[in-house]
Amino acid sequence: MTSYVYDFSQGGMDQKDLLGGKGANLAEMTGLGMPVPPGFTISTDACRAYLAEGQQPDGLAEEVTTHLTALEQARGKRLGDPDDPLLVSVRSGAKFSMPGMMETVLNVGLNDVSVQGLARVAGGDERFAYDSYRRLLQMFGSTVLGIEASIFADALDALKAERGSEDDLDLTADDLRGLVRTYQDLIREHSGRDFPQDPREQLDLAVLAVFDSWNTERAALYRRQEQIPDDLGTAVNICSMVFGNGGEGSGTGVAFTRDPATGRQGVYGDYLVNAQGEDVVAGIRNTVPLADLEQIDKAAYDELLAIMARLESHYRDLCDIEFTVEQGKLWMLQTRVGKRTAEAAFRIAHSLADEGIIDFDEAVDRVTGAQLAQLMFPRFDTDSERHLIGTGMNASPGAAVGKVVFDSPTAVERAARGDDVILVRRTTTPDDLSGMVAAKGILTSRGGKTSHAAVVARGMGRTCVCGADGLDVDIAAGRFTAADGTVIAEGDTISIDGTTGEIFAGAVEVVDSLVVRHFEGDEAAGDDELVRAVTRLMDHADSVRRLGVRANADTPEDATRARRFGAQGIGLCRTEHMFLGDRRELVEHLILAEDAEQQRVALDALLPLQREDFTGILEAMDGLPVTIRLLDPPLHEFLPDYTELAVRLAIEQEHGEDQPRTHRLLAAVKRLHEENPMLGLRGVRLGIVIPGLFTMQARAILEATAARTAAGGDPRPEIMIPLVAAPQELELMKAEIIAVAAEVEQETGTKLSFLVGTMIELPRAVMVADQIAASAEFFSFGTNDLTQMTWGFSRDDVEASFFSTYLDKGIFAVSPFESLDTEGVGQLVAQAVRTGREARPDLHLGVCGEHGGDPASIHFFDEVGLDYVSCSPYRVPVARLEAGRSAGAGSASA
Ligand code: PEP
Ligand code: MG
Repeated sequence: MTSYVYDFSQGGMDQKDLLGGKGANLAEMTGLGMPVPPGFTISTDACRAYLAEGQQPDGLAEEVTTHLTALEQARGKRLGDPDDPLLVSVRSGAKFSMPGMMETVLNVGLNDVSVQGLARVAGGDERFAYDSYRRLLQMFGSTVLGIEASIFADALDALKAERGSEDDLDLTADDLRGLVRTYQDLIREHSGRDFPQDPREQLDLAVLAVFDSWNTERAALYRRQEQIPDDLGTAVNICSMVFGNGGEGSGTGVAFTRDPATGRQGVYGDYLVNAQGEDVVAGIRNTVPLADLEQIDKAAYDELLAIMARLESHYRDLCDIEFTVEQGKLWMLQTRVGKRTAEAAFRIAHSLADEGIIDFDEAVDRVTGAQLAQLMFPRFDTDSERHLIGTGMNASPGAAVGKVVFDSPTAVERAARGDDVILVRRTTTPDDLSGMVAAKGILTSRGGKTSHAAVVARGMGRTCVCGADGLDVDIAAGRFTAADGTVIAEGDTISIDGTTGEIFAGAVEVVDSLVVRHFEGDEAAGDDELVRAVTRLMDHADSVRRLGVRANADTPEDATRARRFGAQGIGLCRTEHMFLGDRRELVEHLILAEDAEQQRVALDALLPLQREDFTGILEAMDGLPVTIRLLDPPLHEFLPDYTELAVRLAIEQEHGEDQPRTHRLLAAVKRLHEENPMLGLRGVRLGIVIPGLFTMQARAILEATAARTAAGGDPRPEIMIPLVAAPQELELMKAEIIAVAAEVEQETGTKLSFLVGTMIELPRAVMVADQIAASAEFFSFGTNDLTQMTWGFSRDDVEASFFSTYLDKGIFAVSPFESLDTEGVGQLVAQAVRTGREARPDLHLGVCGEHGGDPASIHFFDEVGLDYVSCSPYRVPVARLEAGRSAGAGSASA
């Protein structure tokens, strides 16, 4: 029989699939003998079965009874007993942490009778008992019965206002008893039922509510954002309650074994006296720094620090911890390997490897390309004019400039219109997720570094400043006032610095990151501690990776930058931009040519310009391969728009000055018009249909090569033919190129060394890859077109039209143009790799579609055995790191 329920003493940290992250780690801490309140976990299997069947799976209720009875025996109390009730918390806990996205219900087991028993066993502390009861009603009402949470919050605020206080600690036992009645009335009014007095019914309903919370809109949005699969389900942890709200000797807090913002060692976290856990995360009251606990309760503080040290060495990583002190007794409520900023990730991985706690393979595996990309974000220019209007906590690094908005719908709406926005709130709640996704930055006036805003922003890599309590935020009026009297209204621009916590009025100038400056050769930047950590890990990634990294670069400037960023050549030099600007006229001559002679003249005019282009790029990449792709787009892309020409002609005709050239251009545009240009006269087809076009380009490349060779350089061109579907297409073009090469060798007296190869970007090319390999010396996978042609998705249209529906419906978790569809398109890549290499064992293989810079795709390309990936210059460091991680992961599992 399947087991659905596991005691905390039964599992361990490797069982996150079954027990969820929280359950697995509670079990691990229990096993380590740490003070975890006893409890049990209902597995993700149970959740999945419930979500699939729409009802509790058979046997679950009985198993819960068995484990609850054992828990009651262990604690010597019964759930909801009128005299001395056992109370439990019911918490969600999925495999991957989803902070604040799913539900928690605390104090389950309280009712109108047991609340008095609780007060009696708490030494007559009625205030504590009724405070616990009203929290249960509040959480149960919103989570289980689906009542708007603000209805309860408003009633609490109204009561505080009546008592003339801002702090819930000022409310008396009588106040709270009254609040309990108000909450019960609100529950009846809004849900049409009474709050259940039966403790077991409370428990069962709370469990189902946690299961259901897996499918709330906000949880689904979070998963999509974080690319967490939709079908994992959540576990539910039932844990005996311990109380942080039982007076001054109690409290609750969050701790980190290192600073999650910077990665530095020290005592980091927040503590809140006389409170339950949700008060800290909700940022309702301002917390004190964890270090202050030493003064408040030295014994608990010392024990906590000892446990933190043990957890860090056990997990060999930064851990974050939730704990409660109940009348001087420390309880561990949760731990996990903590989320961290990109900066902290690099510092921590580097320092753990330096300390010998992990090796450098693991250190490289602990950081990601996405984190490196974040460190390459710009920051504010400290020399520029700045008007500081406040400072908060540096919750999530980066520099964000945008127009202030005060609510999420407005953030979403303005962002959709193309505005950069900063979402300003007092505190954020999970309902603000859509606004946080849309905003460039988030600013709150309340709450610490562990508040919802901070945790979620860090996870998303959004710049965030929180707890800026010098700002008076008036959401209703749509403005905030700084301590110096500056008033910022909705739509005004501000700048927030998530690295320092500073807030500036107006737009502050932004500068490149130190990491980028270092890559670009700025020696001073190399002294920075973070830059040193990045460099060290990058060096290790480079030393272990098998996969080469090249850049897509079309100009000498881009090629130079790419080389500084570590590119080992150019994987794609698109030649089409070389036909734009003031060269358009020459291209027009080519298109309008009426005979072979006019065509030759037009091509001859383009030749020296192209030669110059290639000389610059071959020089910038001297000694490294440079893959130059011959012209790919349809020629009409270089002509004026049809309507524009028609208008021009009409005006000319009105003045009786119509030009033959305009007539000819219009006729050419008509002639060249295609209903489906992506499937039309482009790529190798141009080379075949327009005699001399590809040979002109090949001549320009080879003349530039001869000139560089003669000048003592080491040019390594690779001539690439695009959009080949049939081996004959490549054979024809290759023969022409070889003939041109022979001519150039003879004319210049220089021996040329170069390769001729093709892009594989059509499904047919994959099917006949062995035949194509007979004449191709290399393949470069054009996964943009290969994705387009395999799915039949127009790459220029679909992402903006219906992809959001496809993503919503879970047809794919991420656009296949962004991350390679490894099950479909990826299989084509794998097949062409195999058959191509069978036909030509020394075939050189790379990828130059956008996927070449995407972390997940890079791992796939490594697995299928490509020689290199090619991506934009700024992605080159990311690709180097991911290629190193891929190699490390491969060797670890081998
Ligand atoms: C591709 O199709 O993947 C490719 C690199 O070529 P382009 O994007 O220029 O069509
Ligand atoms: Mg292409």
